[in-house]
Amino acid sequence: MEIVNPGNEDYHMHSINYSDGLNTIDEIVKFAGEIGLKKIAITDHNQAYLDARTFPRKSYRGIIKRWQNVFNNVKVEFGVEADILNSKGDVCMDIQGEIPELIILSTHQSPPYQEDSKTITEGYLNAIERFHDKINFLGHPCSVYHGENVDIIAVTELCNKYEIPLEVNGANLATNRTNLNKLKQMLSIADQIYVNSDAHTLNELKTVRRKAFQYLRENGYIKGKYL
Ligand SMILES: [Zn+2]
Ligand SMILES: [Zn+2]
Repeated sequence: MEIVNPGNEDYHMHSINYSDGLNTIDEIVKFAGEIGLKKIAITDHNQAYLDARTFPRKSYRGIIKRWQNVFNNVKVEFGVEADILNSKGDVCMDIQGEIPELIILSTHQSPPYQEDSKTITEGYLNAIERFHDKINFLGHPCSVYHGENVDIIAVTELCNKYEIPLEVNGANLATNRTNLNKLKQMLSIADQIYVNSDAHTLNELKTVRRKAFQYLRENGYIKGKYL
């Protein structure tokens, strides 16, 4: 098992500008520099997720093109946390109609998933077959959101086939929203994993990725020094 981002790089977090984080993009980037991160991706939720939760639109996405880091040398990318919508594997991957380069494939509670949770594995497998060339990694595939219904072995095997990493999600681990049985199954066969915070607060940006590495160390998946 290879960890794609063993160092000071975090590819999953949310802002208040485009979804449900508590901090602005500028606050996140400034703080990322203060805690020694070298590269971050701000990956807000897709439009279907935002519409389902009636989030007000706070910032226009077009402004992103004019944003520049004035605080430090942290490299900043803007991505999206996409949602699988149904068992056919339709995926919402835009924010205000714009599709970023970096795409995390996730699922959450219904909505935005439009069918019974029992069909979620089919949704994953079809979405991966259809969009494997666009998807950068799977976000929290072992979350509790769809209960026991995710066949994590089948999903992980298909990710391995297309060389798509799967995520160990710090915030989900820290707040007991991880199905630990599924996580063990995933880690037993996954070729590549990301370790990300999924931070919605500055405290999570600072602490939960470290907790994820601690979990991996305590359970014998990694040895030696990580964060
Ligand atoms: Zn998520
Ligand atoms: Zn997230």
